[in-house]
Amino acid sequence: MKAARWYNVKDVRVEEVPEPQVKDDGVKIKIKWCGICGSDLHEYLAGPIFIPVGQPHPLSGEQAPVIMGHEFSGEVVETGKDVTNVKPGDRVVVEPILACGTCPACKSGKYHLCPSLGFHGLAGGGGGFAEYTTFAARFVHKIPDSLSYEKAALIEPMSVALHSLQVGHFEIGQSAIVTGAGPIGLATVECLKAAGAKQVIMIQRKSIRQEYALRSGADVVLDPNTCDVVSEIRRLTGGIGADMAFETTGSEQCYHLALDALRFDATLVVTSIWEDGIQFNPNAIVMTEKKIVGSICYNNDFPATIAMMSDGRIKADGYITKRIALDDIVTEGFDTLTGPAKKAQVKIIVTPDSSLL
Ligand SMILES: [Zn+2]
Ligand SMILES: [Zn+2]
Repeated sequence: MKAARWYNVKDVRVEEVPEPQVKDDGVKIKIKWCGICGSDLHEYLAGPIFIPVGQPHPLSGEQAPVIMGHEFSGEVVETGKDVTNVKPGDRVVVEPILACGTCPACKSGKYHLCPSLGFHGLAGGGGGFAEYTTFAARFVHKIPDSLSYEKAALIEPMSVALHSLQVGHFEIGQSAIVTGAGPIGLATVECLKAAGAKQVIMIQRKSIRQEYALRSGADVVLDPNTCDVVSEIRRLTGGIGADMAFETTGSEQCYHLALDALRFDATLVVTSIWEDGIQFNPNAIVMTEKKIVGSICYNNDFPATIAMMSDGRIKADGYITKRIALDDIVTEGFDTLTGPAKKAQVKIIVTPDSSLL
């Protein structure tokens, strides 16, 4: 079958690989659509980050070259003999987590905090930029007919956002700041509105992404180049600051703006992955008892995300800005998302099945 494999920085190849064999507890899936993620772009431009190179990943047993793609939907075509939760013909998505199952984090149910954590589509063992993939049945989730395969490819990034609300203990009626109108920032806006936010304030410099933020449900978009973001947010929140903030950019400026614009005793949730450290004076949280928490991927968030996307509470309209064939993933996918026109793109989704284009 055909698959896109990461060999090295700027070296992703679409090539013939053996079709995967289903294990007793596994499910074989015919891929319909798979989104290109920001972490795929990090691997493409500056990897390896999550991709094992030089020694095999402890859970997949594989190292580069590895098949990429972790945000995918598809149809079950075969199941192992021990599988009971899905059957051939089912429409599914995969929660692409590799976790050991035996460490203290896994045993406590926090499998996403496993020290051996890997992602299907980065850590080896297959991925969604392929015609077929196989994965453990317990991480395979059925989707209803009301949810298209295209939108289902957005469940994974949407679950990242929903999880960040859970980590921050977001409450109905609160106001929130979101920094950056990229895929995770926009998904966070949608989740906040679906979860009953009073007011969502997006921090985003001037670009078409400001329009995307409003379309996702942001009430206000503030550009740090043209206004004093912190005093503007204070003004919008009755003089005290926002109840919660979500940092999705990995930019030091946005981190400080979001923290400064919070009210006392409020929480900054950091969802972004950072390339470098930042300057930070802890007095910013000592005098105000503000809290800073990190949020990584998802932990039992797929069922809620699937339910909310299936009945339209989370619309996820306008995210898919381009649909491409697997054969064109490098030129039309990776190069577009890292080139001069990248700001206009939110999600590019890829299919191995040209009849879907
Ligand atoms: Zn992703
Ligand atoms: Zn573990």
